[in-house]
Amino acid sequence: MKIRIPPKLKFLNFSTAYQNFANATLSSFVAVGLSFTGIFQLVEWAYYDQILSFRPIEPPDPNLVIITFDEADLEEIGAWPIPDDALAEILSRITQYGPRVIGLDLYRNLPVGRDGHEALIQIFESNENLYGVTLQGGKNSVGASSVLEEFNRIALADVILDVDSKVRRSLLSTRNEAGALQLSIGTQLALTFLSARGIEPEVLENQDIRLGEAIVSPLRQNEGGYVNADMGGFQTLLNYRGLEDNFHTISITDVLADRIPGELIQNRIVLIGATAGTLNDFFQTPYNGNLFTEQIAPVPGVIIHANITSQLVSAALGDRALLKTIPDYWEWAWAFGWAILGTSVINFWLEHLGRVRGELRSRVTIMLIFIILEAGLLVAAGLALLLNWWIPIMPASFALGLSGLFCILWSNRQLHNLATLDELTQVANRRSLDHYLTQIFTESTTPVCLILCDIDHFKLYNDTYGHQCGDVCLYQVAKSMRDTICQQDFVSRYGGEEFAIILKKTTPELAEEIAWRLCKKVYELNIPHIASETSESITMSCGVSVRALDRPMTKEELIMMADQALYFSKKRGRNRVTVYKKANNQLPESF
Ligand code: GH3
Ligand code: MG
Ligand code: MG
Repeated sequence: MKIRIPPKLKFLNFSTAYQNFANATLSSFVAVGLSFTGIFQLVEWAYYDQILSFRPIEPPDPNLVIITFDEADLEEIGAWPIPDDALAEILSRITQYGPRVIGLDLYRNLPVGRDGHEALIQIFESNENLYGVTLQGGKNSVGASSVLEEFNRIALADVILDVDSKVRRSLLSTRNEAGALQLSIGTQLALTFLSARGIEPEVLENQDIRLGEAIVSPLRQNEGGYVNADMGGFQTLLNYRGLEDNFHTISITDVLADRIPGELIQNRIVLIGATAGTLNDFFQTPYNGNLFTEQIAPVPGVIIHANITSQLVSAALGDRALLKTIPDYWEWAWAFGWAILGTSVINFWLEHLGRVRGELRSRVTIMLIFIILEAGLLVAAGLALLLNWWIPIMPASFALGLSGLFCILWSNRQLHNLATLDELTQVANRRSLDHYLTQIFTESTTPVCLILCDIDHFKLYNDTYGHQCGDVCLYQVAKSMRDTICQQDFVSRYGGEEFAIILKKTTPELAEEIAWRLCKKVYELNIPHIASETSESITMSCGVSVRALDRPMTKEELIMMADQALYFSKKRGRNRVTVYKKANNQLPESF
């Protein structure tokens, strides 16, 4: 006879690899789904900021110099805004040293002071590499100098803030309402500088831009740690070179006193902007508000623009890479990878090593495995960021944790099943039966009926068809019982080919009817048994006992009565039911 392994038995051999795969898929799916709600964003940014501020300090950009003015410089000048004559003086002194391009990060839409406006206009007109700024964003927009606008030498001073008010992105360009391309001041200075070296931007097919040795890719909505961010215009991650100390700076006081190191200006980019604390042109950056690094003051806008210029120029000249992100699907694969690593390691531990250790030691080890894997993830993502790749940590970390948790829950469930279920028939084992009966007998008023079932001539069945077929038969009989009785009733394997069914709050008449139904169902399974003296197919005999509520009674008594009734069914010819308690807990007269 061909042996058909019942599906439940196959389930017991459920492959660990398949389980790992399913677990990792589910965990990473949940983690990635959650990441789309944006709940991980702040943690993601915090980690990004921390790693950026751990980077080694870089030398000042050799191509750029910032002309700064702080409170002391403004006192020296004696007025704010800087009067036109003073600004004309500053610009003419700087131009003497032959800068390649000048960026004026000051709004000059209106004349300032009584004198010097003409002189300033003259300088604006004659200096074809001098660019001014305008502020476009929102209500606070500021117009451009009309002269510079006329010569098309105006760029944007707008800075993009994340929802935590930090500047992590650089706006390279955008389009105005009329659809005309507008460059940010940082981009404008970089492109003018690079153009003089024969490097021009080239738009590639996928909308990336080739700039000298660099490929500049626009940041997309959900890349890096961002979720649903407004990526309007052309934005990239801002690969900060650093703060004021990472740039050559000259104060306006020094310029006016002609203390200018000319070699810093000649053929360089000159950016003029405020560092005075009272002028309110300050921003939070990844360097601000970190847990493990020194607290620093907000960063002047001019330093942000200098960083944008510096990152483009250095990247185009091949001196310094841009920060890169990976596409969404690689982020998902990254989360899945950690989840599968987590579930594989924990499952391996549970299956091969954990079981032989004490439970507590096992749990401590699992915690340690988790901590090591999570630390590994943080280190890997941190190293990637140091190599200029921003790979999000949170979906992967969450997926890893979740997959480990699923492993433990799954393993606990398996242990619970091992302890309470009969492995062959998948119904409750003898231990569970004893536990259940004890529980019921503590409630003195609950009516209980017990049906004890025994397969007829099962030894002969084994002898005829073999033990493996016997096992399959046992499984099928148990399954038919589970399918026949109600959910709240309890089926268990009492031992060998015997099963015990407990029916709570049932009348003896109904219990008898159910027992007959069980016999009929087993017969209807039509499992051939040519050696049986009772029938040509497998049959079963039952004994039913009822708990007496009018006197104290133990569970052992209940079992003994059902056992005697079962014995009586066997004696009367098998494939039948006998109820012990028809009246006053007496056996039927013919017993
Ligand atoms: P009766 O009709 O009087 O109950 O006769 P029987 O042969 O069914 O009863 P007996 O107690 O003599 O034999 C029970 C048999 O059940 C003996 C044993 O080989 C078989 N058996 C018990 N447990 C298992 C099992 O897990 N798998 C298989 N295949 N057989 C089992
Ligand atoms: Mg038996
Ligand atoms: Mg039997």
